[in-house]
Amino acid sequence: MKPDFNKTNGLIPAIIQDAITQQVLMLGYMNEEAFIKTQLEKRVTFYSRSRNELWTKGKTSGNYLNVVSMSLDCDNDTILIQAKPVGPTCHTGATTCFGEPDCKGYLYQLEETISERIQSGSDASYTNTLFKRGINKVAQKVGEEAVELVIEAKDTNEELFKNEAADLLYHFLILLKIKSLNLNDIEKVLKTRSR
Ligand code: AMP
Ligand code: ZN
Ligand code: ZN
Ligand code: ZN
Repeated sequence: MKPDFNKTNGLIPAIIQDAITQQVLMLGYMNEEAFIKTQLEKRVTFYSRSRNELWTKGKTSGNYLNVVSMSLDCDNDTILIQAKPVGPTCHTGATTCFGEPDCKGYLYQLEETISERIQSGSDASYTNTLFKRGINKVAQKVGEEAVELVIEAKDTNEELFKNEAADLLYHFLILLKIKSLNLNDIEKVLKTRSR
């Protein structure tokens, strides 16, 4: 993939998107040097138009943007980068430069966190401890949480209902994980049913 730098006086906008939640994190510009550096280091480097120099995002803050994949738009003059941010992307401390938009991708973030906890093998992690108890125990927990949700559905306390709904989703994600599946696999099934 090769952006057409000549078309736009050597600078091309790069949209940075969170690889998991799909949130737009920020927009910056790249010249060819910044683009090649980003490709080589797998870490986003922009060209700063105000300082006229290369700028590796995170160089002083440590909040690097680790590249997962890069693609171009239809006419090769805009770069889209899927990245995993090390910390908040905005210098204000916000997750994105566009504030804290209501994040639709949070379940995917949670799925990632669950994977990390299991990877860590830590006994201090409830997620990991439950995972290690095996599929029967996890499936039983899902059943229990489902029953608790049904009970709360018959009540009028919205907070309790929301909490049981959250418990069910969380344990459901662990059940998917122990079956070596993920949310996306289930979405695919749902998509085949829509018409
Ligand atoms: P950093 O690249 O994260 O080490 O930040 C270095 C400096 O770049 C900060 O002090 C800000 O002035 C600026 N900066 C960092 N992140 C952003 C951003 N997302 N948008 C605009 N400027 C930024
Ligand atoms: Zn274009
Ligand atoms: Zn910002
Ligand atoms: Zn519960």
